[in-house]
Amino acid sequence: MRLTVLGGSAAGPNAGMGCSGYLVETGSSRFVLDLGPGTLPELRRHADFRTLDAIVVSHMHVDHVLDLLALRHALAYNPVPPPRPTPVWLPPGGAELLIRAAAPFDTCDEPDTFSRTVAIAEYDPLRPLPIRDAIVTFAPAVHNVPAWAIRIEAGGRALGYTGDTGPAAALAPFFLGVRLLVAEATLLDPGGNNPDRGSLTAEEAGALAAAAEAEILVLSHLWQERGYEASRIQAAASFRGRLELARPGLAVEW
Ligand SMILES: [Zn+2]
Repeated sequence: MRLTVLGGSAAGPNAGMGCSGYLVETGSSRFVLDLGPGTLPELRRHADFRTLDAIVVSHMHVDHVLDLLALRHALAYNPVPPPRPTPVWLPPGGAELLIRAAAPFDTCDEPDTFSRTVAIAEYDPLRPLPIRDAIVTFAPAVHNVPAWAIRIEAGGRALGYTGDTGPAAALAPFFLGVRLLVAEATLLDPGGNNPDRGSLTAEEAGALAAAAEAEILVLSHLWQERGYEASRIQAAASFRGRLELARPGLAVEW
């Protein structure tokens, strides 16, 4: 299994780094988790973006989906057309949101321009989603919109991705035994006692990885202004394994 970070910025792109996006490659599958703004150019550096097996979206926040709009144009007007539409798996309710977001631009294009290039569908978070040899499962996150944490199994290996979540989601059992966890670490300070807050501190991200017995933690959803190293230092207080900061092109294979 191989993970390549396409971007790891929170909410809006940091200097030189797009928002959430992760390329996952297993024995026979190649797909992307989230496609936030600024991640499509990085994706093109690592894979033929026209032939992905799927794109799976954790939740419908702009920093996790915006490059889906760019992707449609990149596929529709590419001089080497894609062989088939790219399956895009959205959370429940996501299709309507995406169609509404894209509607102002669609009037400029032929009616079938985008149905030829992307196949929009919604996953059922209660059911495993197979993508070739990979099995994708979901667990509810705690965020200010419906959001899903994601686990991927393939060939006896496992990867976890928190998406965006607060600590109340208590995701350690869901991620138990993953080798690598991509965990959001938006905060350094919890900012008071709000049990339903929708983001983790770096310390909480580290504690989650430790509780899940992950060996590698990739801290993501980071603010440049908070200082990347500050996130690393804080997470290291609760996680003793290999610790990486998300950055475009960071690849981990196991
Ligand atoms: Zn979010």
